Amino acid sequence: MNKETLICYNLFNANYYNILLNDFNLLPEGQIPLNKKPSTSCKKCYGRGYSGKNTTDFTYIPCLCLKKQINVDILLQRNANI
Ligand SMILES: [Zn+2]
Repeated sequence: MNKETLICYNLFNANYYNILLNDFNLLPEGQIPLNKKPSTSCKKCYGRGYSGKNTTDFTYIPCLCLKKQINVDILLQRNANI
């Protein structure tokens, strides 16, 4: 079993949390896997990870600094499994 953990960002409540890497595929939509938390020195979000809120689907709009930390490998793996 792979016990590696992954840091994720929830686009619906703008919270960071840790999960087991293996469990990422079980998560619903709107969860973003990250390499690490964005820096709190970001001038736009101060580490919150979002720059605003989408009034159409009520998700938070990811800040550029958050987008830079997205773990693309894990996202691609997930899409390949669907
Ligand atoms: Zn930012």
